[in-house]
Amino acid sequence: MARIFVVANQKGGVGKTTTTVNLAAALAGLAQRVLLVDLDPQGNATMGCGIDKRKLEQSVYQVLLGLTSIDQAAQRSPHAPFSVLPSNRELAGAEVELVDFEARETRLREALAVVDADYDVVLIDCPPSLSMLTLNGFCAAHGVIIPMQCEYYALEGLSDLVNTIKKVHANFNPRLKVIGLLRVMFDTRMTLSQQVSEQLAQHFGDKVFNTVIPRNVRLAEAPSYGLPGVVFDAQSKGARAYVEFARELLERIRSLPDD
Ligand code: ADP
Ligand code: MG
Repeated sequence: MARIFVVANQKGGVGKTTTTVNLAAALAGLAQRVLLVDLDPQGNATMGCGIDKRKLEQSVYQVLLGLTSIDQAAQRSPHAPFSVLPSNRELAGAEVELVDFEARETRLREALAVVDADYDVVLIDCPPSLSMLTLNGFCAAHGVIIPMQCEYYALEGLSDLVNTIKKVHANFNPRLKVIGLLRVMFDTRMTLSQQVSEQLAQHFGDKVFNTVIPRNVRLAEAPSYGLPGVVFDAQSKGARAYVEFARELLERIRSLPDD
């Protein structure tokens, strides 16, 4: 059975895509069968996996509209052993087009059910909003991974996200839970990072992952080469942190109930 995780935070630029792409590559390196689902019309995860978003014959858009299957639309990432259900700007139209569909919030869940036996882990990269696309991610998932920058406004907005997750849990998807908060772009030299990090630990206790992803320029450079950071420079601090995070996540998955 595939474990399905959605990487979400309604803020932009907080490291969702970097986390999804590097976690996918790191888990693949740990012998997991991984599918990355790009649910953001910006297609950054698609490009970051080395797939040209301008040349897609099929994408997550056709899957959500029921025009094709994940089997047909997914591609192998050219430089790392995992699969990608890619996305591009066409997906922006899905929001409106899905309005006429029944059960439009569970389109992705239904599509993933068909390929459940083919993967160990499915990772869904979300757009920076709490839109119908993100709702499809929440409805499909077992858990939410929340990447956070430890800065002054980080905690603001977190309660909106947690409330949305609670509503989805109550109305659509009883198996959904917050798997954990991941501190990213962490700057050890900044007192503020340490302070916010402590606040996070106070509020969320063991929901905060032990692994911390440092600010590391190699992670930021990798996408321009169409490579996950963990493949681009495996020895960099950022890459090593994502591999450590993949191990920690697998540990957490093992302690989850089967549902
Ligand atoms: P989101 O998907 O939430 O919008 P991204 O993953 O695209 O965020 O990250 C935003 C920007 O920050 C990108 O330019 C990315 O390369 C950079 N970035 C992300 N994580 C790190 C990190 N740990 N160190 C340095 N730069 C990072
Ligand atoms: Mg993104």
